[in-house]
Amino acid sequence: MKRLTILGSTGSIGVNTLEVVAAFPERFQVDTLTAGGNVALLAEQVRCFQPQRVAVATVAAAEALRRLLPSPAPEVLSGVEGIIACATGEATDMVVSAIVGAAGLMPTMAAIEAGKDVALANKETLVTAGPLVMQAVQQRGVRLFPVDSEHSAIFQSLQGHRTPDVRRLILTASGGPFRALPTDRLQQVTAEQALAHPTWSMGRKISIDSATLMNKGLEVIEASYLFGLPGKQIDVLVHPESIVHSMVEYRDGSVIAQMGWPDMKTPIAYALSWPERLQLAPPPLDLARLGRLQFEAPDMVRFPCLELAYHALATGGTAPAVLNAANEIAVEYFLRGNLTFPQIAVTVEQVLAQHRPEPLEDIRGVLLADRWGREQARRIIEQT
Ligand code: NAD
Ligand code: MG
Repeated sequence: MKRLTILGSTGSIGVNTLEVVAAFPERFQVDTLTAGGNVALLAEQVRCFQPQRVAVATVAAAEALRRLLPSPAPEVLSGVEGIIACATGEATDMVVSAIVGAAGLMPTMAAIEAGKDVALANKETLVTAGPLVMQAVQQRGVRLFPVDSEHSAIFQSLQGHRTPDVRRLILTASGGPFRALPTDRLQQVTAEQALAHPTWSMGRKISIDSATLMNKGLEVIEASYLFGLPGKQIDVLVHPESIVHSMVEYRDGSVIAQMGWPDMKTPIAYALSWPERLQLAPPPLDLARLGRLQFEAPDMVRFPCLELAYHALATGGTAPAVLNAANEIAVEYFLRGNLTFPQIAVTVEQVLAQHRPEPLEDIRGVLLADRWGREQARRIIEQT
């Protein structure tokens, strides 16, 4: 029996994870759940999965949650400290890291430091602090299983192979809802249009990141730290059907890909049960019916966020944390209708241009860079 802590259980990844858990009660038990502020859904999850402990982002949310909980109620914690306590709890074997944004960094790092295996959906953890995170993973001897579908595909395509034989990683991208939209129309697109992703159903922030291609940029950085390869060995290929989830090219010319329907339950289940595969029940992948799969090069001119991410990765140090922080703020403004879609990339570019990157020494340095990136982004947006 594997005992799980799910950080961000009320989000898109959290809910999918609980669906996998519910299908295999003989394998998984929920020890702890944490969420931001959706206490109604969290209370329902407590009724179904009966965790020992729960945590929410604020004291007010904890009070609201207590009023909704059945008796006997689990222990309720709050704030970053409460979420960290949940991520490091004695009774937990594996932590599913599915908080959105840089808020996921501290609890994930704490879980690693406490010796927990981690199923990592929160890509911002590796983007902001990749070298420190991978060092802690090594030192503690824990395993980090990617949940992001592209990284799971690469992880699967690397099984049984030697990393020195890898020539390059090829991350696929759906291209988002505006792949074919003329440049002059991007100025007018709304948050609602940007949230309508063509192939994946995801949380709001990552859906906007998919539309700007920043999501792919963050994934290039994530892949670089996770698999120990520089940006120049990581390519992006637009593939609108989202069937090929990513590929590894080896030095003999062989390319190994992982395919499947776009359903996050597949990579989640693989992270939870590696090296076994669970009996999931997606419909068979009917390639004859699909007929054809399309591929094209990404358009870095219309979607500059991808290039900005490659640039931040090459710069290294605090640059990826600043890229991520500026992007989180710009996306927040866009979602509220206070920034145009093209201004997201412009904001990130301006913040990066003002940044003096420093080497990553410790997590404190990451948090300072994160705060600086957010302040600069707000200042730039408020001035325009
Ligand atoms: P989401 O917005 O649907 O859910 C986020 C979860 O985090 C919720 O439970 C929310 O309550 C919690 N949360 C938000 N802010 C918090 C805070 N400050 N403190 C504590 N908890 C907080 O997001 P999602 O789509 O599930 O994505 C989660 C992570 O997984 C992201 O990093 C995303 O990039 C990554 N990811 C998601 C998908 C997907 O299909 N949704 C695919 C690959 C990777
Ligand atoms: Mg992905």
